[in-house]
Amino acid sequence: MPGTHRLGSCSGPRSRLLTAALACSSLACAGCAAGEAASTASVRSPAQVASITATVAVASAAAPAPAGAAIPKEPLSGRVITVDPGHNGGNFTHPLQIGRLVNDGNGEKECDTTGTAAPDGYRETDFNWSVATRLRALLLAAGAHVVMTRQSNTGVGPCITQRAAIGNRAHSDAAISIHADGGPPAGSGFAILTPAPIPSRADQAIIIPSHRLALALRTSLERIGLHPSTYDGVDGIAPRTDLGGLNLSRVPKVFVEVANMQNAGDEAPMERPAFRQLLARALLAGLERFLG
Ligand code: ZN
Repeated sequence: MPGTHRLGSCSGPRSRLLTAALACSSLACAGCAAGEAASTASVRSPAQVASITATVAVASAAAPAPAGAAIPKEPLSGRVITVDPGHNGGNFTHPLQIGRLVNDGNGEKECDTTGTAAPDGYRETDFNWSVATRLRALLLAAGAHVVMTRQSNTGVGPCITQRAAIGNRAHSDAAISIHADGGPPAGSGFAILTPAPIPSRADQAIIIPSHRLALALRTSLERIGLHPSTYDGVDGIAPRTDLGGLNLSRVPKVFVEVANMQNAGDEAPMERPAFRQLLARALLAGLERFLG
């Protein structure tokens, strides 16, 4: 941004920049007071004076706030975000515990599942946990209050009912479940699963904001080069009535199926920490966009 560049080139408090703008008479000043570089303090046109005034205004706006002044809030200050890493590492060894049926708000479903895995054995739960904890760190840095639905990647569950209840109890401004899909090997891309109307839904009002959340996240995922699923949903959005985590939610919520672990092109970057960090940043950006 021009103002930022100008201040960055002439970093310092307002008085220093003002002095530089007024005294600038050589090319040495070019870049920090570009409009004034060729002028002298004694000969200035009205346009040049206006340019200097603008420079001072920019410097004033960017200068450190005086003591006692209000400090700008962090972008997500006061916001509550529930982050739900899908599945759990201990699910693999507790099939009976996670296999019991629970009411998913529109029928019955298993308490939880193991999730999918790549052909080389890289597990979805490990991917989900990595992205979720990276997102948690970014959210905290942005000032949000973060609620996690599980505290480790070695436990069991919780059930889908609890995953929804945790977000509800926290009165979350947004909740996001992080998953990866086990789709057809030829299919690729992300899908964002959104709540669809069901007769028993406690809160129909979450459907539209959840869709808005999905759109905001889709924009962010596309900006890092990912593409909507070639096999699930329409343009990367897939309304669902069979997911307890969505059916039982009373706060805006989506599931993000980041990519297809059965597709070689999708899966290869998922095993790279840098990609998972990029992904977490995209999810943060989408949440910030949704929460305005
Ligand atoms: Zn999953």
